[in-house]
Amino acid sequence: MNRGLVVALSGGVGGAKLALGLSRVLPPDELLIVANTGDDFEHLGLDISPDIDTLTYVLAGLDNIEQGWGRRDETWSFMATIASVGGADWFRLGDRDLALHVERTRRRHAGETLTQVTADITRRLGIEHRIRPMSDDRVRTRVLSDGGWLDFQDYFVRQQCRPVVRKLAFDGVATARPQPELMTALADRVRAVVICPSNPFISIEPILAVPGLRAAIEGCGAPVVAVSPIVDGKAVKGPTAKMMQELGLAVTSASVAERYGDLLDGYVVDRDDARGVRGKVHVAPTLMTTPADKEALARAVLAFADQLS
Ligand code: GDP
Repeated sequence: MNRGLVVALSGGVGGAKLALGLSRVLPPDELLIVANTGDDFEHLGLDISPDIDTLTYVLAGLDNIEQGWGRRDETWSFMATIASVGGADWFRLGDRDLALHVERTRRRHAGETLTQVTADITRRLGIEHRIRPMSDDRVRTRVLSDGGWLDFQDYFVRQQCRPVVRKLAFDGVATARPQPELMTALADRVRAVVICPSNPFISIEPILAVPGLRAAIEGCGAPVVAVSPIVDGKAVKGPTAKMMQELGLAVTSASVAERYGDLLDGYVVDRDDARGVRGKVHVAPTLMTTPADKEALARAVLAFADQLS
């Protein structure tokens, strides 16, 4: 088996499934998970990092499987109370989840970076693998809809992705610096870069837009392998397919691959999704329902990447 570091680029729900699989087949020093922070926002005075939190809860085994987001065994006293006094209740924050945001915010205000806070909290929750933000600098995804520009969580949660997306922008990205460990890691011995099956527009492209990151990935010499978020011609969950239509793209695995362009050395797609995909393709079951599915896909992705290197 090949050794060296695997760098996995991830958003929230779809990405975290494969990140969990990778964490089960790789030791902690051989995996670095890079989380999108374009979804981050300030709400009720709190610093919220949805993709980091999803990765954290999933890898710590604390995720709410039925709900598909947030923590398990959650209670909602805070939400009920804030609603009763006329406060904002459109972004659902469970009591347990809330504690994490309060502590993150406190430490950020005391001067810690998002990397430091994330590293410490994930360790305390028993996660040995590294989850790192794409950058410690502030990047905010914004959505241009027919009614003008919207903050990402306004579009995503408050308006439940109903507005038609014309364009996306990542405010602050031009001056954001890539997370330093990531750049050091990419300059060292990398076994593979894995692009998880996340929404390309709002989860992966913000990461690739951080200046220097895409070039470092291209220059690291390791195979770059993506897993398609399209299974059986549909997005498994979330607005990926709707966004593709609105942006004038066919809802296929091939158009996701085209979006990543030259960055990809290999692409993993499900059985009926290989049509039109150019370049090196590996066909595997990519729908991850059970822990065994996640592990099997992680192994398949790594074996394919090793073949390419
Ligand atoms: P978000 O940040 O929470 O929206 O999550 P991501 O961007 O990481 O994931 C959303 C994408 O994950 C959607 O495009 C889904 O189609 C995809 N997805 C979710 N579950 C699966 C799965 O089991 N297999 C594959 N291949 N894609 C999935």
